[in-house]
Amino acid sequence: MIDVLVVGGGNAALCAALMAREAGASVLLLEASPREWRGGNSQHTRNLRCMHDEPQDVLVEAYPEEEYWQDLLRVTGGITDERLARIAIRASSNCRSWMRRHGVHFQPPLSGALHVARTNAFFMGGGKALVNAYYRSAEALGVQVRYDTPVDSIEMQDGRFIAAQVPAREVNGRALPAERIEARSCVLAAGGFESNREWLREAWGQNERGEWPADNFLIRGTRFNKGVLLRSVIEAGADVIGDPTQAHMVAIDARAPLYDGGICTRIDCVSLGVVVNREGQRFYDEGEDFWPKRYAIWGRLVAQQPGQIAFSIIDQKAIGRFMPPVFPGTKANSLAELARKLELPEAAFVETVEAYNRACRVGQFDHTSLDDCHTEGVEPAKTHWARPLDKPPFYGYALKPGVTFTYLGLKTDENAAVHFGGNPCPNLFVAGEMMAGNVLGKGYTAGVGMSIGTAFGRIAGTRAAAAAGHHTSAMNEGKEHAIA
Ligand SMILES: Cc1cc2nc3c(=O)[nH]c(=O)nc-3n(C[C@H](O)[C@H](O)[C@H](O)COP(=O)(O)OP(=O)(O)OC[C@H]3O[C@@H](n4cnc5c(N)ncnc54)[C@H](O)[C@@H]3O)c2cc1C
Repeated sequence: MIDVLVVGGGNAALCAALMAREAGASVLLLEASPREWRGGNSQHTRNLRCMHDEPQDVLVEAYPEEEYWQDLLRVTGGITDERLARIAIRASSNCRSWMRRHGVHFQPPLSGALHVARTNAFFMGGGKALVNAYYRSAEALGVQVRYDTPVDSIEMQDGRFIAAQVPAREVNGRALPAERIEARSCVLAAGGFESNREWLREAWGQNERGEWPADNFLIRGTRFNKGVLLRSVIEAGADVIGDPTQAHMVAIDARAPLYDGGICTRIDCVSLGVVVNREGQRFYDEGEDFWPKRYAIWGRLVAQQPGQIAFSIIDQKAIGRFMPPVFPGTKANSLAELARKLELPEAAFVETVEAYNRACRVGQFDHTSLDDCHTEGVEPAKTHWARPLDKPPFYGYALKPGVTFTYLGLKTDENAAVHFGGNPCPNLFVAGEMMAGNVLGKGYTAGVGMSIGTAFGRIAGTRAAAAAGHHTSAMNEGKEHAIA
């Protein structure tokens, strides 16, 4: 019988598999996707948020534990477990040498990234290179990997994990029978449920306009995170954390594909212009704060608009001041022409932009500070970077809500154990998006998803190996992070 079964094939699963194998356990990793699509949302990532007390290779200045914690506290509005959050924060300060040993390399941020040279270490080659490096290292160490192998439920007996169930399925035209895979312990790292459109629909429900908002959401990452296993473990009695409507949601290019559009479909010019809904009305302060602190609220804001669509409008002055998205914007020489091309109500749109233009009080424009360019006498106000849209050509980008990942997950503790009725299971562990909701009740700060997945993936792997009888010095690693 295999010692440790790891379900999932992204960052958290790979960290768990590597740690368990390093502890001497035999490890089998089951990835739902085909090999070409392996790596889940982790393949789309770019960086890891890292605590550090002094400059460290690619990280400048310092980002101490307390500042990291305060950032997390602020974005989550206090809906976080401090003990678990601090474990992830502390682990982020010393995990990179281990990551390097498994082939992950780092680089400073590229220009155009969200001002994060101090806080975030970027993966050389991005998340795809990280995932590939981990798979290479895992295979070299003897971790067995099976693709096209989704687990849809697990079997428990007397409070212990016994086996995973893989349904009958067709792979490349071949019918494969259902399987039951036993193991001494198991790590669940199969992501959230963001790719399950029915579940999103159920969670978001119908709005006052009779719309089902989730029908218009796009999924920024993998199509394989359907939450099938998450739901079945919850139904089997595991303790749950989080609200099913809470997710990291960004406003992305409405032309992005339904799945896997990744980072290049994000539209980063919101704070340089105005955003209107399909009725041509503005609805939120586009200059409320620096874009890295605000980009993750715009998905939800757009989700609340009629038709779950909005339009980011800029003029020539904004060009060159933001990372251009993958698709070019709709271009026009007048506001009226732009309205026609974007199929917006022309008179209402032109009046909205002209009212905004009249309300602009332009001081010293500076996109790198919370400058004094603001509006007066228009609702909603634009509190920074307000300049009239008066220099053609004008550009418009249609925006839709893009779900990055959901926060509903399994309740866990400092050992990454899955809890049933308040009690930790001795041989079932959880990591990554499947438990990120313990730390992220709501909100987000860039790079923390990989911090949580790396910290708890490593703890889960170590604990799963121990539960299978492989206690090694790697155990100390878990203990080290388990301080209050
Ligand atoms: C476009 C984009 C950019 C991002 N950028 C960043 C960033 O720069 N920094 C950051 O910290 N975070 C970022 N994130 C968030 C980050 O991707 C996640 O926090 C992190 O990858 C979660 O890791 P994970 O291993 O839990 O999930 P995933 O990487 O999504 O892995 C889940 C795995 O489980 C598999 N799976 C699903 N269901 C089953 C099943 N039933 N049986 C078997 N396998 C299954 C999937 O195929 C997948 O391989 C980004 C996300 C997206 C979408």
